[in-house]
Amino acid sequence: MVFGTHNLARAPELLRLAASGGPVVEILDAPAPEGDGGSAAALGAVRELPYVAWVTIQTGCDNSCAFCIVPQVRGPEVSRPPDELVGEVGALAGSGVTEVTLLGQNVNSYGRDITRRRPLFAELLRSVGAVEGIRRVRFTSPHPKDLRPETIAAMAETPEVCPHLHLPLQSGSDRILTAMRRGYTAERYLERLAAARSAVRDLAVTTDIIVGFPGETEDDFEATLEVAAAAGYDSAYTFIFSPRPGTRAAALEDRFVPAEVVADRFERLRVVVERSALARHEARVGRVEEVLVEGPSKRDPAVVAGRTGQNKLVHFAPVPGRPVGAGSYALVEVTGAAPHHLRGDLIEVTAAPRHKVRIPLAVTAG
Ligand code: SF4
Repeated sequence: MVFGTHNLARAPELLRLAASGGPVVEILDAPAPEGDGGSAAALGAVRELPYVAWVTIQTGCDNSCAFCIVPQVRGPEVSRPPDELVGEVGALAGSGVTEVTLLGQNVNSYGRDITRRRPLFAELLRSVGAVEGIRRVRFTSPHPKDLRPETIAAMAETPEVCPHLHLPLQSGSDRILTAMRRGYTAERYLERLAAARSAVRDLAVTTDIIVGFPGETEDDFEATLEVAAAAGYDSAYTFIFSPRPGTRAAALEDRFVPAEVVADRFERLRVVVERSALARHEARVGRVEEVLVEGPSKRDPAVVAGRTGQNKLVHFAPVPGRPVGAGSYALVEVTGAAPHHLRGDLIEVTAAPRHKVRIPLAVTAG
């Protein structure tokens, strides 16, 4: 079965056709009409767990970052109507979801195709936060050039919006940012970050950084190290540049950075990011944090894992006689820190799961 990104939502139907009738090829040049498997709405919310959901608020992207293939394969930005999204979140809340993550390639420009007059993303954050039963609202990813004061204000003034901002830096060198066609300078990025930090109490900041973009010099890379240190990230997704066929960057072969140079820079960046992450985590020791419980840790089933509003992973030991199920909220005192997680002690469960829990029935013969 071969299909394109404009008819993702048709995948189940295409699979059925392939199963019954052999090979199927369906590739569209543009999104299929509403109601025919082409719209973001047709994709519906993604729910891997019964208490959290990911809601696509827009598809496509109007930017043209030199390393990215998304605009070519997903087309221009298309936003879903706010009323439809609020209705969908309401339905999710009604089924027990308490945390939603709003998804888009550039959520900050959400709604620009609907109206150019109103900062619709800020309004959407407030509306989704007001949905009864929703305790946490997250979003990803905002483009730094489009981070508006209204969005920062909505984060600061809507208690349900988590104090976590994922703000992709990509590079700290203005020369490389221009080559990447990112539309901001390092100084502008740090100004917007400072505005967010001063408005949103206890804000955690994470980022994406590409190491070894074609033409990146040692000076460029050191600028990235400086911005990363100044930003004081809570964590960072760091990537080694990898050419995507069809992108502008892939055609810059004569400027590719040697692999051993990139590997060395990648390691140096890791050290800078982990240093700031550890410092920020250590500063939380002794604090009491509310976590959304995920259940036994994947790495160590003897401990329970949960996430704070800042999206920090916390491990804590279960307490006999005080069951704490997945989907519940609990207060945990932070007792230890590592670069990628916190450790803590359970204080109390503050809210039980709202979703229905299926209890497996034992079936006996006869
Ligand atoms: S990196 Fe993000 S903003 Fe840039 S083109 Fe790709 S999807 Fe759009």
